[in-house]
Amino acid sequence: LTSKLPHVGTTIFTRMSQLAAETGALNLSQGFPDFDGPQALRDAVGRHIAAGHNQYAAMTGLPALREQVAAKIARCYGRSVSADTEVTITPGATQAIFCAIQALIHPGDEVIVFDPSYDSYEPSVELAGGRCVHVPLALPDFAIDWQRLQDALSPCTRLIILNSPHNPSGALIARAELDRLAALIRERDIYLISDEVYEHLVFDGVAHASVLAHEELYQRAFVVSSFGKTYHVTGWKTGYVVAPPALTAELRKVHQYVSFCGVTPLQWALAEFMSEHPEHVEELPAFYQSKRDLFCDLLANSRFRFRRTSGTYFQLVDYSAIRPDLDDVAMAEWLTREHGVAAIPVSVFYRQPPAELRLVRFCFAKREDTLRQAAEKLCAV
Ligand code: PMP
Ligand code: GLN
Repeated sequence: LTSKLPHVGTTIFTRMSQLAAETGALNLSQGFPDFDGPQALRDAVGRHIAAGHNQYAAMTGLPALREQVAAKIARCYGRSVSADTEVTITPGATQAIFCAIQALIHPGDEVIVFDPSYDSYEPSVELAGGRCVHVPLALPDFAIDWQRLQDALSPCTRLIILNSPHNPSGALIARAELDRLAALIRERDIYLISDEVYEHLVFDGVAHASVLAHEELYQRAFVVSSFGKTYHVTGWKTGYVVAPPALTAELRKVHQYVSFCGVTPLQWALAEFMSEHPEHVEELPAFYQSKRDLFCDLLANSRFRFRRTSGTYFQLVDYSAIRPDLDDVAMAEWLTREHGVAAIPVSVFYRQPPAELRLVRFCFAKREDTLRQAAEKLCAV
């Protein structure tokens, strides 16, 4: 067999979670909560299974769930989208991103990704016959480097993938940057995927600048989110993509043959929970900000250096005062094996990691006792 992805191995998330399990380390690597989603949401799944909601959902997603997504978008971003022609429910955000890329990219097309970037983007582009052009974000803030972005544009550029709040750094794209991006691509045939799976995990009173709230950019965008992050149920692998009707039609041509539809009883449960608990998303920033602050307050006594993350449930820390001799992959392994806390290295999300990079990522979507135990171990490093 000639591999179609010769440079791809097993993802860092699987590798680090496996190492954590083997060594008995606290797993702050792969991003997922160690607590459950709301009881009412979980109970609803059982009820909908008992009620016989067990056959294929609509290919586009359960109508009631698409309506709830449209209602939330109207509430949060002031945009009125059609649940019928602009919202599609998918088995996870990763699948949505994959389908959008397959729908857009022809062999030879170029896709701009900002490094560090989520690891599913590039293989998805390569499977479509496209090529990623990597534009590093400017350190230390992981901000868009506009000169480098402009230099990376070519007549072959077909797509730019945005991710805000950004995994792994937590950086946010500001509204003014969306305006700048719109001006940059205005005269060009370039589309956007806006990966906004952490849209509700934004801290310190800042508002998330969604592409859904940007009239001009939305006209050429696929905006992707994940119920897994918002409702603490990453294992449900249920997400959605919102795009103007013409783009949605092309996306659905792919989605119907990649998976056809998402899991039916989960969609019923989510639709019901969203209609009964619209306050859930409003409460999320405070919920996760208090976890961030607890973890960061405890780590203040460690030798790690950091600035509190602005969004996501990830905290980057600089370990150069501890083991400057180790690269970040070795550091993540050393922390896991020797200190009992698993982390994710950051260099794996780069085409060409900066030589001076000494950062690892911790996930703080954890119970208070887990965060306290982890911090105690990390303060002893
Ligand atoms: N994009 C980013 C930036 C992510 O961190 C994740 C987390 N898994 C995803 C997409 C995928 O979400 P899902 O689990 O719904 O596929
Ligand atoms: N998005 C999660 C993270 O960044 C992991 C998703 C996955 O395991 N593929 O940790």
